[in-house]
Amino acid sequence: MLIRNFWQGRIFFARLDHGADIISQITNLAEENGIETGALSAIGALSRAELGYYDQLSHEYGTFSLEEPVELASCSGNISMRDGRPFVHAHAVLSDRTGRTFGGHLTSGTIFAAELYLQELSGLPLKRVPDSITGLKLWGEE
Ligand code: ZN
Repeated sequence: MLIRNFWQGRIFFARLDHGADIISQITNLAEENGIETGALSAIGALSRAELGYYDQLSHEYGTFSLEEPVELASCSGNISMRDGRPFVHAHAVLSDRTGRTFGGHLTSGTIFAAELYLQELSGLPLKRVPDSITGLKLWGEE
């Protein structure tokens, strides 16, 4: 187990831009404000989205698209450094007009309207490094 302690930094509330990609917009917000580590949640609606599923046997991401308006019923995630840039890792539960839900690793989503809560965490930045067991870039030491 890897454990790090942080102090609360700034708290951001942001109304994200209609038509922008949610992951790109959060990444840009982090970069522009020098956020290297943070925790986030968001709610709102997306006009389309792509979710991912990590195959634990093949070590590959599969993705599926929802090409219809969906509620961003829940989205939580974090920010840490990967390859020298803030990297947004977010998971989402999306619901359609019948309330049917889809969930997974949020790879992209076009914002209809979204409200972001972002908590900056101050301290030694968390960095993602390759993990040979999972095939993922996980928090670790370089
Ligand atoms: Zn994920």
